[in-house]
Amino acid sequence: MKRLFSFALAALILSAFTTIPLDKKKGKITVVVDAGHGGKDPGNNAQGINESDVNLQIALALKNVKKKKGIEIIYTRKDDSFLELHDRTNIAQDKKADLLISVHCDNYSDEELNGFQIFYPNTGNYIVESKKFAADLEKELVNLNTPIPHKSTKSGSHFVTNKAKCPAVIVELGFMSNPTDLQVLTSEDYQKQFAEAIVTSIKTYIED
Ligand SMILES: [Zn+2]
Repeated sequence: MKRLFSFALAALILSAFTTIPLDKKKGKITVVVDAGHGGKDPGNNAQGINESDVNLQIALALKNVKKKKGIEIIYTRKDDSFLELHDRTNIAQDKKADLLISVHCDNYSDEELNGFQIFYPNTGNYIVESKKFAADLEKELVNLNTPIPHKSTKSGSHFVTNKAKCPAVIVELGFMSNPTDLQVLTSEDYQKQFAEAIVTSIKTYIED
């Protein structure tokens, strides 16, 4: 009886300090997947390839990944259209999203620099949950059999993650300026693996 009481008390204390979205508790989750850039904003460019196109290919690869029941994916764009940053966070808000994942690729003047990075917000109400998802996603991407190493997972000041009214991350899947990373980022097979890693990390996020 005493044990039951302390368990109930612990659960009560825990629930008071966590801000888990309601749908997540029910094993249901609405995830907005945002392919960065698009239209008049191509993002980075390397070897004639626009980041906006690579981001879109990876985001749309999620369509072909088998998803667990209860995971609903909404795309901010399904073609090469232009969206303002606030359009992206508005979509998440309108759809009452539980999670926002913005897909990007990096670029740098030194082509030696490689690796993937994940950013979560550095302000607002969703830092803890965003960081939790960032860790889940990092784990899946690290486990992938790609030559792209993990560079960093950290908080950052980005409009999309800081202004989202839900947990949110930006994932920079690799450096377009690094020839090996670029080859991976533009490979259909690896794009499918990225999409599978994202879906698996969403499963982990709702189950934990
Ligand atoms: Zn970008």
